[in-house]
Parts: sequence; C-alpha cells; structure tokens
Amino acid sequence: MKLNIQDRFSSELPADPNLQNTRRQVHKACFSFVSPKKPAKPSLVHLNDDVAEMLGISKEDRQSRAFLDIFSGNHIPEEAKPYAMNYGGHQFGHWAGQLGDGRAINLAEIKHNQHHLAIQLKGAGETPYSRSADGLAVLRSSIREYLCAEAMHYLGVPTTRSLSLIKSGDQVMRDMMYDGNAAYETGAIVCRVSPSFIRFGNFQLLASREDIETLKKLTDFTIKHHFQGIEVGTKRGYIDFFREVSQRTLKMIMHWQRVGFVHGVMNTDNMSILGLTIDYGPYGWLEGFDPGWTPNTTDRQHKRYRYGNQSQIALWNLLQLANALYPLVQDVKAFEDVLNEFGPNHKLQFEAMMRDKLGLTNGQLNDLDLFNQLNKTLVKTETDMTIFYRLLADLTKVDNPGSMLQKISKAFYDDDLADDTKQAWLTWLTSYKARLAKEEPSDAARKQSMNMVNPKYVLRNYMAQLVIDDAEKGDYALLDDLYEMLKSPYDEQKQHEKWFAKRPEWARHKVGCSMLSCSS
Ligand code: AMP
Ligand code: MG
Repeated sequence: MKLNIQDRFSSELPADPNLQNTRRQVHKACFSFVSPKKPAKPSLVHLNDDVAEMLGISKEDRQSRAFLDIFSGNHIPEEAKPYAMNYGGHQFGHWAGQLGDGRAINLAEIKHNQHHLAIQLKGAGETPYSRSADGLAVLRSSIREYLCAEAMHYLGVPTTRSLSLIKSGDQVMRDMMYDGNAAYETGAIVCRVSPSFIRFGNFQLLASREDIETLKKLTDFTIKHHFQGIEVGTKRGYIDFFREVSQRTLKMIMHWQRVGFVHGVMNTDNMSILGLTIDYGPYGWLEGFDPGWTPNTTDRQHKRYRYGNQSQIALWNLLQLANALYPLVQDVKAFEDVLNEFGPNHKLQFEAMMRDKLGLTNGQLNDLDLFNQLNKTLVKTETDMTIFYRLLADLTKVDNPGSMLQKISKAFYDDDLADDTKQAWLTWLTSYKARLAKEEPSDAARKQSMNMVNPKYVLRNYMAQLVIDDAEKGDYALLDDLYEMLKSPYDEQKQHEKWFAKRPEWARHKVGCSMLSCSS
C-alpha cells in the first residue's frame, strides 16, 4: 500500500534524542520516537470508506492484509517514523505536569489531494508517556470513540475522525468502575485522523518548564501550518493566533450545546488547538435536558464538566493557554482583551443558536427571555432534548398552546405532568406562539430549517452500549447499522424510527449507559 507520507510535526520540531521506550520526563522536545506494540492477532471490526478515500487508500488496499497490519501497528510503513507527543495539562482544575501520548502513537502525516492529515493509533502500546498504565485500549471505549467521532462529524461538529477500528487479539486488564473488580477485556486500536493532534497542553508543558525556545518553535509551527493568514513569529501574530483558537473553541462548544453533547473530561490536555472535539472518553448525550448533568463518574462530586458549564470551562482552559503563550508576548492586556471578548461572543452565539433551534429568523427582536424561560421550563420535568426540539418543529402558528403541549408531550419521560409544570409549559408556549406570529416564513419553511440544526438521531448512551454488547460477542451488525444511520442525523429515516425514542428505563442507571469512567 502506497501512502504519501509527509511528516511535518516530527521533521520540523525538536525530537527527544532518547530512543528507548522507557517512561521518563522528556525535556526540550515536542515528541519521542516510539514503535507500536505488535498486536497478537489483528482483525478488522470497522473501516471508514470516506476517511480512507481522503487518505488516498484505494478500495483494493482497504481489503488487504497490509491495511490491517499498518493500522493495527503490526507493520510500520517504510517511510513512517512513529512517535508519541509530549504535553502536559490541567486535570480537573489542577496542574498535572507532563502527561503526553500514553496510549496513542502517531504513525505518520499523509498528504493526499487537498488533505494533509495526521494518523494516530490509539491503544497501540506503551510509550515514554505511559506513566503507570499499559498504553492499550479496550473494544468498549474504542467503539465509543470510533462511532461518536463520526456521528459528530456528520452533525457538523468540528472533530477528529476515525479511519478504522481493529481488534488487537490481545486481552487487556481493566477495572472499569475502579471498584476492585478488574477483568480481562478485548483489546482494540482505533486509527484516528486529524489535521493535527496538538493540544493546549503541548504549549502549557513547555511554558511550565520555562523552555521558551521550544515553545516558540511549537507556536510558530502551529501558526505556519494550521492558521493560514496569521503572522508567524511576531507578538501580533501570537495574539491573533490566541484569538483564533478562542473563537474556534467557543464555536466547538456551541455546537456541543446545540446537539446536547457532554465531553466529560475537558482537561487542557484534551483541548485541541484546532478547536476540534478530541479524546472521546466518558462523554455522553443529554437525554433528559439537564444543565447539571455529566456522564463521568470520576466527576460525580463537583460536576466540573457538566453540560451547562462547558463554555465556562472552555474560557478557563483558554486562560491557561494564555498563561502558556504569555512569555512569547509579555503583554497581559493583549491576552485579557481577547479573553474579555469570550463573554460577549458567547452571548451572541448562544442567542443565535437558540434562535436557530427555535426556528426564529428575525434577529432584531430580543428573545433572551424566551430562551431563558425555555431552559427553566425544560428542567421542570424530565424532557428528552433531542425529541423535544424535533417535535417543536411540528408546531404551527395556528396551534393553540394546549394543542402545542399535546404535540411535544412525547418528549416527556413522565406521562402525567404536575399542574405547575403543565402551567409553566402553557405559559412558555403562549410566548412562543406570540413570537411565531412575528415570523415571516411559513410553518413548513420553519420546520425545514429547524430540522437542519436539531438532529433526529444522536448516539444515545445506551445505543453505544448495545453496539458494544453485540461487538463483544463478535456481532457487528448493529455497529454497521448505527454507523450508517448517524451519517444522516438530520434526515427522517423510516427504517430507523425506533432510535427516535426516549432512553429505555433499563438504561437509566446502567454502567456504560449513564455512568462512565475514564477507564479505557
Ligand atoms: P485521557 O483521560 O484519555 O485524556 O488520558 C489522560 C492521560 O493519561 C494521557 O496522557 C493519556 O495518554 C494517559 N493514559 C490514559 N489511559 C492510558 C493507558 N491505558 N496507558 C497509558 N496512558 C494512558
Ligand atoms: Mg487525553
């Protein structure tokens, strides 16, 4: 198989001179060369033809043994020099020092047509950054990453993507809920793809060590290759870069809020410098709309990374990035000015998002109260976010609030609404009806535009778990089926109507469906 390998990161940035695969602190270097572990018996679980196409991998090559060998780490292509990246990060608000790619190995960067993409094998074995862990990943978490990244892509959310999901043939020991019940699980490797896997933490680590020379090299590299139009090597360029990262990050978060995605671990080592969703771990999708919800059991106590806090955390993370870039600019005010833009931009984008979700075209009117009232009403009774917004598109200008309530009632988990909840809904629907009366477009046009921003199908937590349960038994039919369905999340898909349904009761408290840990 011929891959057009053109490594930029590893050829232009300082490498760790130590070639041993031993765990250590790595200074004055952006990465360490390391080879993937040979898998015992690789077997293909899923392959993404669209991404394969982007990488210039022919249909024949996709079927080949070579594909399996390369993307499981069994065979390293001749020109490839695999490496693990060096980065640090704030974990749950605390500086954690050096982290790095502990279980991801960058195989190569591939150039094909207009694409220049880095490919990374997640779960490919130990690296100098593996600390006390094994560098491996299990099928359960690999399916979650593989499927969700693609679902996000087709939802229009900036994200890394997935090329392939391969079982390694190795058994991996995991204590899934950290409760002393360790067991062997099926090992797997996801080949994920992105223009770059550089994170906030790459800059932070260098700044924390006062290695300004390497920090400058990394920043100049990032701007040169990934932020076209921004000056390289000047103070103004660094501030423009920081502004662009801030804007991309905010945009990504607004997409998460729109579709009801909770990342779960927004540590700064999991924040892509490109504003892409990265590192799918204990993420989850809102079923009942609840700003206080997080799927990550590790964060159960403080709920730092809850749905309603994601934009605040993004800002906090950007402040850490500003601190890291500060030595290159040494102008506090310049960074503060950018950070101060976040709040007003967030307000504007929140309002635009809510207008889109509610099908309102006239941006001249002040609808903030309508939006805030809706978010308050949505939490009065457990209301399925995805179903609610799709049903909302069925309302017409001539409906009265009572019939409107009838139309959205399938989104409620409880059949009988308490009187005050019912009243709150009637009040809100009365306001919404009055607001719709000021809209020019027809009901049909509004429905069409709402259905382009409010997905019909998302990867509900229990759906991923059903795929996992089947895949553990070697049955990938559901994986194939949901993968196809999630490629058109905004379309009506009659054959998939059963997935447009509230979470079944059995999944409410089941591990993997509502409770997830970082263990993967
Ligand atoms: P994550 O929670 O996936 O963002 O991981 C946080 C840090 O722990 C990163 O540096 C990972 O590379 C590392 N890590 C997580 N799981 C493993 C593992 N099984 N083996 C080695 N390193 C790991
Ligand atoms: Mg990570």
